Amino acid sequence: MTELLYGIFGGTFDPIHKGHLNTVSSVRKQCNLERVHFIPASIPPHRDIPGATAQQRLEMVTIAIAGYPGFDVDDRELRRDTPSYTFDTVKSLQEDNPGRNYCFILGVDAFVGLEKWYRWRDLLDQVHFIIMQRPGWQAPSPLPIWWSERRMSDCDKLRDKACGGIVEIEVEPNPVSATEIRYGVANNVDISPMVTDAVRNYICSNNLYQNE
Ligand code: ATP
Repeated sequence: MTELLYGIFGGTFDPIHKGHLNTVSSVRKQCNLERVHFIPASIPPHRDIPGATAQQRLEMVTIAIAGYPGFDVDDRELRRDTPSYTFDTVKSLQEDNPGRNYCFILGVDAFVGLEKWYRWRDLLDQVHFIIMQRPGWQAPSPLPIWWSERRMSDCDKLRDKACGGIVEIEVEPNPVSATEIRYGVANNVDISPMVTDAVRNYICSNNLYQNE
């Protein structure tokens, strides 16, 4: 059985940066994903209040991915007025697109906190997970049983099942973070190496992150 795979990439994207774009492009290529949906989070359950508004984060994602075929932005979490749990977001995507096999893409820094997520065990049975390396973070050793039991050697193995697999993917290390960018803007650091030109211009013209 050879199933098509679709990616979901959630984040605060405050702002979206090259660490997101380069790593997810590499994942899309290596795993041959049909599309990747970028889903900005509205009220992130696990982190502080973001610096840009939801609308501004959405606009930055939209302009950043404009040149990437196969990437799109999905604003379903921003349209809700309650906290956006990944479990609910994925369920809603699956209801809109029955029969599609989804892979939730995230950095290892986020995945190591999975056990704190709402209905995380159900989520493991709802999608596949693709874990990207992130400088400064490592998978725990030994791995928890639920992780090692579901671990697969490569993305092609994910095509044999509708959900429930975990694959770790090597991507070129990209040490940028949104925190560093927000801090950099407030301190007059040149952020051009970290964001696309369009996002840098957007940050400038909207005076974002001046007081981080
Ligand atoms: P912040 O610094 O504000 O916490 P961030 O840079 O981690 O933000 P998020 O929008 O919170 O960005 O991240 C969304 C997803 O992207 C997460 O799964 C995170 O692990 C992943 N990610 C972010 N930056 C990188 C990077 N440089 N390399 C690999 N994965 C990344």
